[in-house]
Amino acid sequence: AAGDTTVAAAIAPSAVAAAGALFRELTGSEPAGVWSAPGRANLIGEHTDYNDGFVLPFAIQHRTAAAARLRTDGRIRVASTFATEPVEVALDDLEVLFPADRTRRAATGAAATGAVEEQASAVPEWAAYPLGVAWALRALVPAWAAGTFAGVDIAIASDVPVGAGLSSSAAIEGATSTALNELWGLGLDPVALAQAGRRAENEAVGAPTGIMDQMASMLGRSDAAVFLDCRSLETRSIPLGFAEAGLEVLVIDTGVKHAHSTGGYRARRESCERGAAALGVAALRDVTEADLPRAAELLDDVDFRRVRHVVTEDQRVLDTVAALAAHGPRAIGDLLVASHASMRDDFEISIPELDTAVDVALAHGALGARMTGGGFGGAAIALVERDAVPEVSAAVRAAFATAGFAAPHLFTVTPSAGPRRDV
Ligand code: ADP
Ligand code: MG
Repeated sequence: AAGDTTVAAAIAPSAVAAAGALFRELTGSEPAGVWSAPGRANLIGEHTDYNDGFVLPFAIQHRTAAAARLRTDGRIRVASTFATEPVEVALDDLEVLFPADRTRRAATGAAATGAVEEQASAVPEWAAYPLGVAWALRALVPAWAAGTFAGVDIAIASDVPVGAGLSSSAAIEGATSTALNELWGLGLDPVALAQAGRRAENEAVGAPTGIMDQMASMLGRSDAAVFLDCRSLETRSIPLGFAEAGLEVLVIDTGVKHAHSTGGYRARRESCERGAAALGVAALRDVTEADLPRAAELLDDVDFRRVRHVVTEDQRVLDTVAALAAHGPRAIGDLLVASHASMRDDFEISIPELDTAVDVALAHGALGARMTGGGFGGAAIALVERDAVPEVSAAVRAAFATAGFAAPHLFTVTPSAGPRRDV
């Protein structure tokens, strides 16, 4: 594949054109507009988001685009280049497909019957992302206004690698919410759209994720990261200076698929909840490194190490922001390395492919490297001198071949702007 021989721009930035083409194929007419939102890479701050802590992601140049136009019959149709069939439902059925209290629905079976019940089981997972965003946005406006929602056709295409830890999910949510915000005249700000995306992912899709990905996508700026306090949702744009310093962020996508909803992720969250409860705090955000000896007494070894990862990772995010401001981007390498070690040894979410990617990148001159994303697969990032990208890439490929791993997909990501209207 091309990804084996080229480094940068292995993925063509063609999502906007592809979404428009799919829209024309779907409807036989032009879209009213095309809106897009980026994926994201997380520079540092892993598994801190759902602990009310700090994260430092940046939006990347890879984007998901939504070509859309209102329709007059109160129905919503979504299509994706990713899927073979479009999915169409009545807007008024969204509340039945995604009832606010899913447990109650399962218990009583009362909310949905007959044809709608059949539709619910027929909604493929991918369609729950855009349909869930429409549902979450409708829930934000008073019931009396619901009648004012027009139906809509949405065609989606993406350059964001799926399941590589670069949040194709936040990108599809952000593209959809940005399109609907304008077409429905909702006037919501980027934070409200991020929250609608998260709600879609948590409740319509059923993936128990935090708010980081959506905020990174919606608030991205060129050559800057988004410092996010996941408790207050306050953000600060942090200049990275990678371009001026001649640094690149190399993504090493192992191709090993993660599955958020499976045991590992859930078990980590449960450890964190037990840790916070034992320490008598609302979230691990409220625990500092000074509290760790007490945590060691109260918790079993596994839960203690999970807690130690989160507490030290929060501090590393703060230290990274400080180091960037004081000394610039070359000063953050050791913090990235420490973050990886903590995820490997304390949080135990790395895999041999990710450890190899990090070790080999560092051995060939990367300033820092760490796995990124939820873990159990996905990608690592390495902060690399621009001139050293080919050497590091070749070394990683060679090491993967030697170890018998599948060939990794290598490309650079550039801190980029958030959502926009493209057409
Ligand atoms: P990640 O966000 O790390 O890429 P997730 O598992 O969170 O991985 O989200 C990936 C899922 O999002 C896909 O399996 C699919 O259901 C949905 N998705 C992402 N991009 C698209 C797209 N362009 N079209 C349709 N569905 C998409
Ligand atoms: Mg995701």
